[in-house]
This record gives sequence, C-alpha cells and structure tokens, in this order.
Amino acid sequence: MDELKLGISSCLLGYKVRYDGQHKYDHWLVETLGKYVTYVPVCPEVECGLPVPRDAMRLVGDVENPRLLTIKDKTDHTPRMLEWAARRLAELDSEELCGYVFKSKSPSSGMERVKVYPAKGGAGEKKGVGIFAREFMRAFPLLPVEEEGRLHDPVLRENFIERIFIMQRWIQLRRKAFSAGALVDFHTRHKLLLMAHNPALYREMGKLVAAVRQYPPDEFADIYLARLMQATSYHATRAKHQNVLQHILGYFKAELTAAEKAELLELIDNYRNRLLPLIVPVTLINHYVRKYDKPYLAAQYYLQPHPLELALRNHV
Ligand code: SF4
Repeated sequence: MDELKLGISSCLLGYKVRYDGQHKYDHWLVETLGKYVTYVPVCPEVECGLPVPRDAMRLVGDVENPRLLTIKDKTDHTPRMLEWAARRLAELDSEELCGYVFKSKSPSSGMERVKVYPAKGGAGEKKGVGIFAREFMRAFPLLPVEEEGRLHDPVLRENFIERIFIMQRWIQLRRKAFSAGALVDFHTRHKLLLMAHNPALYREMGKLVAAVRQYPPDEFADIYLARLMQATSYHATRAKHQNVLQHILGYFKAELTAAEKAELLELIDNYRNRLLPLIVPVTLINHYVRKYDKPYLAAQYYLQPHPLELALRNHV
C-alpha cells in the first residue's frame, strides 16, 4: 500500500504554534494512528504570517461569513487568511490527502460549532466554522474530515478511520489505468462494507456500477466517488452490522455444523445486545473464511477495513 496522507492541525502533533506558544498534543493521533499515516501538518495562523505568541482571535459577525478578528484590538486578519488559504489549498491538492483532522473550537481550524460573536458585542453562538476549515471543506467536499475531540467517540473514530482507508484505496485505483473492470473489482470488495453503512445506497450503487460502461471513465469516477463517500458518511449501527453478519452466515450454509452455526448466531445476538464488541463475531467469521476457503469473503474489506492493531472494533 502507498502511504496514507492526512492533513492535520499542527498543534495536535505537538508543534508549539498556538497563540499562547503552547501545543495541543494528541497522544492517540500521534502515537497510535501516527504509525499508519503520514501527517501533513498545517497551522493556518502561523503559515499566513502571524507570530507565536500572538493576540488571541475569534470569529465575529455573520455566522455564515464571519470575520477573523483579534480580541484585544479587533485587527481583521480575514483577508490575510483567505489569501494564504487559496495558495495552500492548491498545494494540498497535489498531496493526495485521504482526509483531515482539525483542531476543535479554533476560529481558523475548527470544523463545526466554533463560537461566532455578534459585532456589537455579547455572547457567542456555537454555530461557526473556522475560516481555513471552511475553505478546506469547500475545496475538498468529498474528503473525510474530523476533529480531535470527536475522535474520542469510538463510533465516530471507527467511521473516520474506515473512510480514510477507503479513500487511500480509491486514490490507488485512480493512479492506475482506470478501467471498468478495476472499478467493478473495487466496488465488489467494498460491497459488505457499504451494506453496513447504508443498505439503500448500497443497492443504488450496485445499479450504478452495472452501467459503468455507459459512462466516460472520468465522469463515472466522479459520480461513483460522490456516492461512495455519501454512503459511508452514514454510521454503521449495531442493527446494520447484525444484518451484514447474518448475510455473511448465508455463505457458509453448506459448511458450518449446527453447533458452529448456533455459536456464531449467539455471538451476533450478543453483539446486537451490546454484550460483545464487533471484533468478536468478525474474528470468528474470519476464522471460518480461512477454514472453509471463501475467496469472495476473504476479499471483502468489511472483514478487514483497517489495521487490526488500531483495535477500533474492540470498542464498537
Ligand atoms: S488550531 Fe489551527 S491555527 Fe490554531 S494553533 Fe492549531 S493549527 Fe494553528
């Protein structure tokens, strides 16, 4: 596999770039996820030319289009930030990022619920988006993005990591000569994973892929990627995982003994009832996939969506 590149707010890596000269080192991002990804650090405030330390800033004015002002003397850094962002986004376009992790609450890097203060003064409302984060998400609307705080939630974390690995595989597919056959193979290997996220979009994408030869390749790729990212933005719930696990059971009709089948069904049931994490039934299924030699299932990313060592499915 080629490297998986993730954009990230520099302060999360421990760079002392915050307004007060400090950092916001995130242990999990650096020490755990960092073993599997190559980070591309970005600090909008320092890279647009502001010093460390500097006056603290906040968003002020219209929630949809706020200004980036220093709190003390209300210096407006919006034009400087936007001008720099346009250049930086063009550079990031060539990095082939698979996603981005933003620092929460920042008027430059916050992805959502950033406080925006009324121009006349008064309390801020948590309705804004940091100026750079907004420009980034406009420029790359299909890239998975998250904030470090939200990544402490096991479901959001697993979903984000799954999607950045999907994006990595997609970028690899696009780098090679893009053919209908390669696309069909890519889709086939993601089928169960898609089913776990959104069964309706999974069915719709099946029809789309069946018509792949009717489209110019690049046009099809754009349509397919948009659907892929839309489908996987839905969280895979326990009920949806249960459906997929029971669907997989159907592939072993001829091989599993009554006792093996009962054991697997019990594990799936216990998973559905929150008595076990997802990794338990999936591990037994992977065992049967090897034992009974099931190439279609062995190729399914659903059964191995990201490195086992991340232990993400031990907590969902
Ligand atoms: S939140 Fe963004 S702008 Fe602020 S220090 Fe971190 S990377 Fe820089």
